[in-house]
Amino acid sequence: MKVIEQTISQLTLPTPFAVGDVHVYVLKGDILSIVDAGVKTRQAWEALTTQLKQIGYRPSDIEQIILTHHHPDHIGLTEQFPNAQYIAAEPSVNTWLTRDQEYLEHYRRFFEQYFVASGIPKIFYQALDKLEATMDFAGRGEVTTPLVEGDRLPGHPEWEVIETKGHAQSHLSFLRDRDHLLIGGDHLLEHISSNPIIEPPKIGKTIEDRPKPMIQYRKNLQKCVDINVNKVLPGHGKIVEKPQQLILSRLTKQEERANIVYEFLQQSVMLTPFEICKKLFPYQYKKQIDLTMSETFGQLDYLESLKQIIKRKKDGIIVYEANFISE
Ligand SMILES: [Zn+2]
Repeated sequence: MKVIEQTISQLTLPTPFAVGDVHVYVLKGDILSIVDAGVKTRQAWEALTTQLKQIGYRPSDIEQIILTHHHPDHIGLTEQFPNAQYIAAEPSVNTWLTRDQEYLEHYRRFFEQYFVASGIPKIFYQALDKLEATMDFAGRGEVTTPLVEGDRLPGHPEWEVIETKGHAQSHLSFLRDRDHLLIGGDHLLEHISSNPIIEPPKIGKTIEDRPKPMIQYRKNLQKCVDINVNKVLPGHGKIVEKPQQLILSRLTKQEERANIVYEFLQQSVMLTPFEICKKLFPYQYKKQIDLTMSETFGQLDYLESLKQIIKRKKDGIIVYEANFISE
């Protein structure tokens, strides 16, 4: 637990995930809010109640839950605050909190098609079940207060909502006018580079219409430089002071990784996304097919946006080749 200011405290809760501990923030304004809600485990709950007590509160004092994005390590304990009448978040978080069946089926179908189209062998398809298993750590509820970019946090009007899609399609951050302090969720982490994660397009759209999270992520990292973010209170790891340098190094590292992918493609006739993933992550792809494929597609989307590579479909499988005819 860390008291950051009189009106902001950082509580740190354990998670069973590789990312380690997650931070939640207690904000005192016109009402008492908590930003993010950890995972749904006994250990997280005990850590939360103990640390709340250290700053003089009980779970029943929390009046509003504000969520940065829909991932289970951020929405776990939403049901545990008996007097929290409001849940404020990007509107699509609701589909996760309510376990919207139509959306979850759409989600599953998208990933099945995406695995096939990427040339991923059948042996990896069990990874699809993992997507659903992690939802056991997510809480339930309903978004009462949909937030979009430019909104003010209800009860905390000095905080502006900033759209920061990339790591998640539902990702929002919150910027304080006075000193450009950002509550950043997983948008920028000091110790690991936050992964842009593949998600399906909206219901009714095809696999080709999926969002391109790396492109969004780069844009929204640059946005943090442009709006002069001064300090980031993150979802994991250390507080980031003056994040410009870290952002620039993240952008450069990504460009370097994209370049490696470009070189693979220059040396081959054509490759499927899965073949590229194996080359890029020879030691990790077997264990983490979902994350390594998201990362691979991130680089491919980026190179395609620069017209350095060309995407084609061959017998229902996506293949990429280097574009030697530069414009
Ligand atoms: Zn997280």
